[in-house]
Amino acid sequence: MVEQEALARAIAAGRQELEGIRADAAKRMGPKEAAIFEAQLLMLDDPVLKEGLTEAIQSGKAADEAVREVTARLTATLRNVEDQYLRERAADVEDVARRLLRHLRGMGEERHLRLPEPRIVVTYDLTPSDMAALDPKDVLGVATEVGGPTSHAAILARSLGIPAVMGAEGLLAAVGEGETMVLDGDTGMVLVNVAAEVLRDYDRRARQTRAAREDVPVQPRLRARTTDGRRVKLAANIAGPQEAKAALAVGADGVGLYRTEFLFMQGDQAPSEQVQYEAYRTVLEPMQGRPVIIRTADIGGDKKIPYLPTSVEANPFLGWRGLRVWLDQPDLFKVQLRALWRAGSHGNLLIMFPMVSVREEVRRAKALLDEARLELLAERQTVASAVKVGVMIEVPSAALIAEELAPEVDFFSIGSNDLIQYTLAVDRVNQKVAGLYQPLHPAVLRLIHATVIAAHRHGKWVGICGEMAGSIEYVPILLGLGLDELSMNPGSVPRVKHLIRNVSYSECRAAADEALKAGSAEEVRALAEAVGRKGL
Ligand code: PEP
Ligand code: MG
Repeated sequence: MVEQEALARAIAAGRQELEGIRADAAKRMGPKEAAIFEAQLLMLDDPVLKEGLTEAIQSGKAADEAVREVTARLTATLRNVEDQYLRERAADVEDVARRLLRHLRGMGEERHLRLPEPRIVVTYDLTPSDMAALDPKDVLGVATEVGGPTSHAAILARSLGIPAVMGAEGLLAAVGEGETMVLDGDTGMVLVNVAAEVLRDYDRRARQTRAAREDVPVQPRLRARTTDGRRVKLAANIAGPQEAKAALAVGADGVGLYRTEFLFMQGDQAPSEQVQYEAYRTVLEPMQGRPVIIRTADIGGDKKIPYLPTSVEANPFLGWRGLRVWLDQPDLFKVQLRALWRAGSHGNLLIMFPMVSVREEVRRAKALLDEARLELLAERQTVASAVKVGVMIEVPSAALIAEELAPEVDFFSIGSNDLIQYTLAVDRVNQKVAGLYQPLHPAVLRLIHATVIAAHRHGKWVGICGEMAGSIEYVPILLGLGLDELSMNPGSVPRVKHLIRNVSYSECRAAADEALKAGSAEEVRALAEAVGRKGL
């Protein structure tokens, strides 16, 4: 009886705390975030959980032992289900359990993390309530060893505007207290003890991102149109279904890049056709007919998948990566292609293949796409009536044969992150050569230009979905090169839109023409700045 009463008191105290957190989340973040804690409140009243706890206590367990055992069983079950969403709910159960245990052990009120100065928080795991208790003023970023981009903690981080990288394996071993680190929430990258030059570059980008958020109004209804009438599409890069909402909130014209490989990185086996179908559908439906470009999984390079057979490669970025991985395993590839065809019936789907270097790869991928469709039709499944197909231009050879690739596809999307690395022979994750990673290098611009010319000659459109597209210092030149769509992190859309609405296309074109003749990135930067300054 005593234990039962202690449990009841802990539940009551936990409820009171959670109600406070829910109200605070509603005020600071919004109804979606408050709903996370609403769900935790419901867990406290869950009859199955309560029954389990009562039974454990009746069998002689102390209340805290009962909470630990019953919730551990529940989280273990959740962690093993196939559905990713449910898997990530295990963190909520753990959060509730920790709250109850704190009260049962008389540890009193939740203590908020107070940092002596703004810092990046590095930790093994973070529960949703830990995250909600953080003050964005103190916390420069959050990095965790476990978790994923769709965990509730990650969703809350996004709402609070705290850059976060969740699930960085090996993090705790690599980072020491007080060390300098760079955390890039856009790419999910964590760099430790970086060179001063790299630090400066990230610092500049961070300031730009903050400024973008603070002083440019989000004008979702306004279109990105230059002062002289050139309309450019602004799309969002996303890594999971949750971010589709962020894309809509900023008024993106669609999703220009859905990086599906994160779906493949979250378990110890490849996501099934059904899991993939649901993830893609969850993005397509809310976009209400706006185009959604889903990229087939770009595995390899720095994105290793433990369950896929790989050998150690001396040069992984030049090795088994992107489309190459899947063309060697067509049956596995077809799982994704089938899921895409099925999901395509719920919206406006475009499919894109990454890491194309020769034309034959495109033809083989398209043949497999056709086969997948025929299989589904033979099974009488519902599939999209048609999907548009594009390729990423991220290898110089692809840019140089764009003229020959264009008839094979409906669109191109320039992956500048890789195009820069492969053109300049600069590993994009090697800090030692980061100073040579120059987006405005004329060689890169000439390849982009060649791609645009070839595409337009064949009546196809070209977008760019690398990080360059969301950076206002590069946008004037990109516009001038004639790109039809810029796809970026949703948070960058308002600032880029503001810039576009305040520059003239003819000036951008003149600057781009000059840039194509330039001999260095510095020369191009000066040209871009001259136009960009007027737009800000
Ligand atoms: C790119 O290479 O620019 C790109 C968008 O793809 P990722 O960054 O995923 O390689
Ligand atoms: Mg790429």
